[in-house]
Amino acid sequence: MDALIARAINDLAPARRAVALTGAGISIDSGIPPFRGPGGLWERFDPMEIAHIDSFMRNPAKVWKVLVKDLKDVIDAARPNDGHCGLARLEQLGILTSVITQNIDGLHQMAGNTDVIEFHGTFAWQRCMQCDRRIATSKVDASRLPPRCACSGILRPDAVFFGEMIPPVALWRSQEVAARCDVMLVVGTSAVVQPAASMPVIAKEAGAVVIEINPEPTALTGGISDYLIQGKAGDVMNRIVAGLEAKR
Ligand SMILES: [Zn+2]
Repeated sequence: MDALIARAINDLAPARRAVALTGAGISIDSGIPPFRGPGGLWERFDPMEIAHIDSFMRNPAKVWKVLVKDLKDVIDAARPNDGHCGLARLEQLGILTSVITQNIDGLHQMAGNTDVIEFHGTFAWQRCMQCDRRIATSKVDASRLPPRCACSGILRPDAVFFGEMIPPVALWRSQEVAARCDVMLVVGTSAVVQPAASMPVIAKEAGAVVIEINPEPTALTGGISDYLIQGKAGDVMNRIVAGLEAKR
């Protein structure tokens, strides 16, 4: 592991257009449960039943009650952890330009990254279904469900429900930054779900070094990623950032 940390520091030190691709694994230490996998939200709920846009349209109060309100409480309380803060520090150091994330928790922005591309939109904001006005989720009064905008329109998460498209701007921007990055850090995601899965491939084909930081090997390991640093995102990022700062 020490040798791989040193290798990552050497690869990142000269980088100027590094990009991170992140997933649920980076936010677990912030208290945000993953949607998929053991202990995930989708073990408790059938996503097609409760997180499909058709369910929301049919009965927004019910979806707010069983899913959105809980998620709001969890995300309102969440703060960035060392994994998020490490990526923000890489941006401050002039090494990393962008974060592509599958998460909807808004924690990369809270940590200080300025170019965050969100495949699945964001739960940090709600959008009025009538006038399109956006309201910070933390400012939404969820005592009456579904919460409504001043115009009386129903508020919905500004995130992508099942049955909805990935925002096209997020898709083309992520392809663009992946194609011109010098290093891609894959953090806390097995990147099996499209379109996230294609980003490390685009980066690799463009000649970037692909570094994976995950607790376990993934389908990327040994093929697409140049190497895997096995561990928790926060611990690994702390060591990498400390090494880069020591080089200055
Ligand atoms: Zn409105």
